[in-house]
Formats: sequence, structure tokens, C-alpha cells
Amino acid sequence: MLIVGNGKLFTRDAQCPMIADGAVVIEETRVKELGFTTEMKKKYPQAEFVDARGGVIMPAFVNTHEHIYSAFARGLSIKGYNPKGFLDVLNGQWWTIDRHLTLEQTKYSAVDTFISCIRNGVTTVFDHHASFGEIGGSLFAIADVAKELGVRACLCYEISDRDGMEKARESVEENAAFIRYAKKDDSGMLAGMMGMHAQFTISDATMELAASKKPADVGYHIHVAEGIEDLHDCLKKYGKRIVDRLMDWDILGEKTLLGHCIYINSHEMDLIKETNTMVVHNPESNMGNACGCPPTMELVHRGILTGLGTDGYTHDMTESYKVANVLHKHHLCDTNAAWGEAPTMLFENNAAIANRYFDAPLGVLKEGAAGDVIVADYNPPTQLDETNLNGHILFGMTGRDVVTTICNGKVLMQDREVKVIDVEEAMAKCREASAGLWKSING
Ligand SMILES: [Zn+2]
Repeated sequence: MLIVGNGKLFTRDAQCPMIADGAVVIEETRVKELGFTTEMKKKYPQAEFVDARGGVIMPAFVNTHEHIYSAFARGLSIKGYNPKGFLDVLNGQWWTIDRHLTLEQTKYSAVDTFISCIRNGVTTVFDHHASFGEIGGSLFAIADVAKELGVRACLCYEISDRDGMEKARESVEENAAFIRYAKKDDSGMLAGMMGMHAQFTISDATMELAASKKPADVGYHIHVAEGIEDLHDCLKKYGKRIVDRLMDWDILGEKTLLGHCIYINSHEMDLIKETNTMVVHNPESNMGNACGCPPTMELVHRGILTGLGTDGYTHDMTESYKVANVLHKHHLCDTNAAWGEAPTMLFENNAAIANRYFDAPLGVLKEGAAGDVIVADYNPPTQLDETNLNGHILFGMTGRDVVTTICNGKVLMQDREVKVIDVEEAMAKCREASAGLWKSING
């Protein structure tokens, strides 16, 4: 049993949003009780005590769109890479990296990503993976790392015809095999989806194959209309818009997650809403790739379950929150935009998305909820309470303020020390693996 106490406890539970000198008691993998620190310590004297030292105690973050394959891109300069548009960004950078990734390099990309997630207080990750250099076993390699580091992961491989039909078939098989494996896993920590890159790299034949291998209770995770080229391709090849094509392939539904959705119209939003399909917004990535700004505020206002991801750009959810906040204000020339929508996406919707795949209630601290708790070293000069917590996180907190990360009742990091892996040794191996990747790309 664990008690995380001696801090300002924020629960995200309307029944009891804040306890000023609060503690959360975790038994096994779930939250058992919340209360005052002194009372909880007295009631459970045998429990291990994790001291928040007056900081903020809150539910851990969920990231609903990650790319482990991008881990070794930091600092990499690819010879001849000079993108003139989004397709050049994909082919020149990301597909070049994933075409070279070996299984070993995928493994260490996962090691680096999950360590960074832990350090930023993220305990649940929806990853969208590609390693066309070595497809078979890649999701299993990532899952092994997730297990070792104690992070909750929903994984998929991005099916694509871009490297030929044989690799497309292999990527369907990797998803199917991993989905079977994750379904048998009863830890509550692993899930699988049928991943798809984007409709413009997937033929009807591959769509059909993926559908035939996907269990009914699992959804798709696919990039949608991230670039205008995706829409043009769909109109030209199929005479319809992207979400219509997905609808025709029965891809929409409550277990399916659509990334980006920048170039969609009102009719497509209707389809997403009617089918209760989920959307994930990645503001920093959209800006960085010069892709445009999605109609995210409208999606949220229409009641479409829209979450917040990082798209591999960062592993810090507070960074995505900050960028979503300024992007929509800037784009709409509306000083009121995103104040409520961005925190709703990060704190409520990401948890709701994750809970379509994981049973334990996430993003909330109450009896029976997942034992996913973080402590932030945050002590502001202004009043902090349940009415202005989001403003404090937005303007005062970063992922680096997280000092303690607990997932599923297990302490993964305490007082900035990662407990589940020797970080120095792991980073040395990551540098070795990334050097190998860079050499195979640039020669
Ligand atoms: Zn993505």
C-alpha cells in the first residue's frame, strides 16, 4: 500500500475536487481512499509514504497520439533534405527514418520515449508506430519496454502501401498479431489497435485486408487530412472526401481514433459525431509541419470526443496544452478561444479516450480509479485552488516540474529519480542505437 501525501491534492472529481493538505491512498493498482494526510497516515500506518513536500498531487497525464519512431530524430540532419511541402517532410524525414529502423533501434526508441513520458508525468500512451526497416515483432518489442518501465500503452503499426504491397501485408499482420496478444494480456496495461498511416497511402485492397484481420471490438488509429494533399488524393482517386471513404470502409466508430482532421468539412464532422468516433489534436506538430490549423474548437463544441496528443513532437503534455491554447486564439483572432476547450481535451477527453481501451478509470483520483498519480514541484506566488488549477498548469507548470510518477500503483519515478531502469546505462544504449540509425541513413 502507498500513500502519496503532504501536498495540494487535485482529484479532477467534481465530488471532491481539492484537499489542501491531501493524500491519496493506493492499494495494489487502484486508488483506495482520499483524505487529509495526517488522517490517512494514522489509518494506514503500514503504508509506504511518498512525500509530495507541499507540491501538487494530481492524476497522471494521458497522451493519445505519440510516435516512438521519431525518438532518434533529435539532432539528425538528413543529407539532401530540404522539404518544399508536407509530402517532402514525410518522405524526406519520417519515412526515411522508419525505413531504416531495425528491431533493436525500435526497442531503444521506445526506451527513450517511455523514460521521457515518465519524466513528464505521462503514464498512458497511445502510440502509432512505423519501422518499415523491420516490421515483424516491432509492436512486441515496444510492449516489452512498456512492461519493463511500467507504462500503460495502446499500440498499433501504421499500415501503408508506400513501400509496396508485401510490406503493407506484413504491417496488417503485425497489428493483427499484436491485437491478439494484447487481448490475452490481463494486466490492464496493454491494448492494441489497427493502425493506418493515412488513406492516401492505403489502397482499397489493403483496406479490405485490414478489415478482414480486425476484431470487431477494436478500432483504427489513422491520420486524417493532416495535409491538404491527403484530401486532394482522395477526391482524385475515389471521388469522395476522406471521412466518406473511411465511412464506406466501416472505419469510423467509437473505438476508432482519427489524428489531426485539419481538412474536413461540416458533413464529415457530422459523420464523426454520428459514429461517436474519437479525434486527437496535435497542435505543435501541425504548426511545425506548416499543415494548417484544424477546426478543433468546432469539433469540441459539436460534442465530438477530441483529445490532445503530441505526435512525437514532445512528450510533455503541458507543452501541447500551451500550444493549443495560443494556436486557436491566434488562428481565430479570438482572445476567448481554447480557455475551456484545451483543458477539457487534455484532462477529460484524453482520459475518456483511454478508457475506451482500458478499464481502470484514468485522469481522476477517486476510489477505484487507476493508481496513476503524479507530484509536481509547484509552489506559486498566487492563490492556487480547484477554480484556477488549469490556469496554473497552463502558465506556470511544465512537464519537468513533475518529480514523482506512479502508474498502476507502482512508483516509476520519485523525486526525479527514475526507479524502473538505470537511465545512464539506457541512454548509452540509446546513443549507440541512434548512431547506428544515423549511419544507415546518411552513410
Ligand atoms: Zn502522427
